[in-house]
Amino acid sequence: MSRDEYDPIKCPMPDCDADLFLDWTASIGLSRGLLTVADDSWMPDPAHPDGAGWRVACAEGHVVLLPGPTGCPCGADSCARHGFDEAEDLRRFHALDAERLSEVLTRLGAVTR
Ligand SMILES: [Zn+2]
Ligand SMILES: [Zn+2]
Repeated sequence: MSRDEYDPIKCPMPDCDADLFLDWTASIGLSRGLLTVADDSWMPDPAHPDGAGWRVACAEGHVVLLPGPTGCPCGADSCARHGFDEAEDLRRFHALDAERLSEVLTRLGAVTR
């Protein structure tokens, strides 16, 4: 790996010099009963969310990439090989998303900057 492969990727938007980040969100459903529990013993584990998603954005709020359609782009109904998201509510960042990000940045001319 050359040295610049470790450099932060800059936001591709014009006049923006902020670094890009991969932001995750995890969603957990709430119920009335939970609000009456005095301690935090009910606190759910964010590693097992009801919903999860991500976005690639810079610190200034420019969103560069969101999850694509569910299902594997290879076209298989149930694809174990690429491990792509099949559920609309649980989205992960996959190698194919990294490829999509790389394509977007290349198209916007940001990688060579
Ligand atoms: Zn930006
Ligand atoms: Zn596939």
